[in-house]
Amino acid sequence: MVVVVIAPKNYGPCSVQNCNLPRDRYHQFTSLAYNKAQKKGTYKTYPYLKIGQQLCYLHYLRIVEPDRAPKNYGPCSVQNCNLPRDRYHQFTSLAYNKAQKKGTYKTYPYLKIGQQLCYLHYLRIVEPDRGQKSRTLKPKNYSFVEQIAMLTKVLYVQRGNIELDPLHFRQMIVKAEPRLE
Ligand SMILES: [Zn+2]
Ligand SMILES: [Zn+2]
Repeated sequence: MVVVVIAPKNYGPCSVQNCNLPRDRYHQFTSLAYNKAQKKGTYKTYPYLKIGQQLCYLHYLRIVEPDRAPKNYGPCSVQNCNLPRDRYHQFTSLAYNKAQKKGTYKTYPYLKIGQQLCYLHYLRIVEPDRGQKSRTLKPKNYSFVEQIAMLTKVLYVQRGNIELDPLHFRQMIVKAEPRLE
């Protein structure tokens, strides 16, 4: 009995050196793809690729269809990153300059412009002030329920002298609970 094993067409692994992209789909680097990559100027980054080799889908897009490639795809370039990785940002030259200014770059000196960072590392490295601010003072971001809770508390405390004039009522509330401003 002869068992015929039919190899799937696109099975990986990715032919890009040290590829660590999520590898769920593969594409073949066809001669058409090769021509496109030559035209787009992306081939010179991967001159070792040969027609007929396999590429992971993201590398395929990046090399053959750079205009269609998603800009931020991960993985995070921070070593041993174990932060929740749902969004990615590119470590652009602007981001690099900011990180240099903020002094956060010296913690991650191996990062290179153009690499991907998870959103939390991006914030931590590029926008350290913004990350802190959003945690300490949340201006007017209270939910309706939170506001009602504050209002109820104020009304309870002030129950003896409730203002009936709307303007005075508002002033009284804000004075007692500035977060309701
Ligand atoms: Zn790849
Ligand atoms: Zn990260």
